Amino acid sequence: MKLVTWNINGIRTFRGGIKKALDSLGADIICVQETKVTRDLLDERTAIVDGYNSYFSFSRGRSGYSGVATYCKDSATPYAAEEGLTGLLTNHEGAVGSYGDQSEFCSEELQLLDNEGRAVITKHRIMCQDQEQTVTVINVYCPRADPEKPERKQFKLQFYKLLQCRAEAILKDGSHVIVLGDVNTSHRPLDHCDPSDIDDFDENPGRKWLNAFLHCGKQEAERNEEEPDEESQETSTDPIHGGTFMDTFRYFHPTRTNAFTCWSTLTGARQTNYGTRIDYIFADCQLATEQFVAADIMPEVEGSDHCPVWGQLSCSLLPSSKPPPLCTRYLPEFAGKQQKLSRFLVKVEQKSIQSEQRDALPGSQEEGERRENLNSFGAGNICGKKRVLTSDSVVAKGKKNKTINTSSKPQGSLLSFFKPKLTNVIPSTVALARQCESGALESRPQLCTSSTTETLIKTKHLTPQPREPNKGASLVFWKSVLHGPPPPPSCKVHGEPCVLRTVKKEGPNMGKQFFVCARPQGHASNPEARCNFFAWVENRK
Ligand code: ZN
Repeated sequence: MKLVTWNINGIRTFRGGIKKALDSLGADIICVQETKVTRDLLDERTAIVDGYNSYFSFSRGRSGYSGVATYCKDSATPYAAEEGLTGLLTNHEGAVGSYGDQSEFCSEELQLLDNEGRAVITKHRIMCQDQEQTVTVINVYCPRADPEKPERKQFKLQFYKLLQCRAEAILKDGSHVIVLGDVNTSHRPLDHCDPSDIDDFDENPGRKWLNAFLHCGKQEAERNEEEPDEESQETSTDPIHGGTFMDTFRYFHPTRTNAFTCWSTLTGARQTNYGTRIDYIFADCQLATEQFVAADIMPEVEGSDHCPVWGQLSCSLLPSSKPPPLCTRYLPEFAGKQQKLSRFLVKVEQKSIQSEQRDALPGSQEEGERRENLNSFGAGNICGKKRVLTSDSVVAKGKKNKTINTSSKPQGSLLSFFKPKLTNVIPSTVALARQCESGALESRPQLCTSSTTETLIKTKHLTPQPREPNKGASLVFWKSVLHGPPPPPSCKVHGEPCVLRTVKKEGPNMGKQFFVCARPQGHASNPEARCNFFAWVENRK
């Protein structure tokens, strides 16, 4: 039995075809976070994937925000599934149960904690050494504490508490438990690219919670014995050994360094592996020590600002004959008459997947697909349509390619991405130029440089263009939309053109523009990483 967890930063990461992406991960249960799919955006191709059954949790607030999903191979079909941690979102038919003592949460709080589509729970039968048992898989996307929103700090901690309450209740009722997902806290200094940069590393409340939730190694157990930590005594079942769960990655790789799962896209830190490990597979101690045979991270898998993490168990799954009611195939919009339409669409889908074999690069899938569903009878049009629609995300593609240009794989996809007629490229260029000028593109600084523009143009010329329009006109156009930003200075250390940034933080400098070294952020000792060049942009009209 193999599990994968991955914060995919938008289901569009699976643009090359969800089935293909899931298959390539080679797991029985695939838990994804930050789908950015809300109920209004869920399309049939995302919800219903041949060979899998899926379970979604949606944010009830903002559209296109948060969201988690668990895809199970048909050979791993759960017999119970539930959305959320509180039990408030389930109708209790086919639910997982075991809610624990929620008395420390008020009812409004419980509602809010489950309102953002951050948890899906599936319960599976497993065979461990000829003995039938169950394992409950809690797929979570824990909140991030935005430093500018202090109220979210409390929300994050309450979410952790609720998660622990539920996980321990299920364990107590006799099921094995796996908690996996984006936990949004790096546990040890070892799990952070620059722990010295953080005051009181261990004083962070998220880390304190992790220390209490997780079973710690022998050394820490001894330390705890000498100086019992009040909090861990309070919240764990065993004060000496901390919590009842284990970080399976650290169980197999206790001292591995530079093992990160998340990198800032703002600074291009993936190139220098300047990241954090905040995506985990936690398992109850017995399961971790007796059934887990391996666990690791997959930093080579691109497409998101996080990489997948996997764990392998020696036990085998016993599938349920029928998926539980939460399964997306029972959603009214995909049931009944729609099924016939879906059969028609499946054929089309396979055709378009074949034609996109090289498009491994993540892209805006759901947008194209939603329209595709509307236009499903114009099958011949789909590829063309899709490209037109996805061209809106060219901006993201450009960034991706520039940020991670060490691999040759996305390059091919980028080329195919720029295949569309010039008319498809221009709108996003205009949008890009506008964003650059307004400084709205802070998170994609590379795009504001002239070198990126050149890349885009070169790429276009490299690409076979059967119906290429007038190139001269296109260059005139490019010049006309890109005259805005001043030429960048070169940084002193690398002698390379800088990138333009805009101050976003409120204060006297808000809106002001400046140049910094274009290299990705990295450790100060890394000569390949960003140097400390900084220059304000002179006032211009
Ligand atoms: Zn530099």
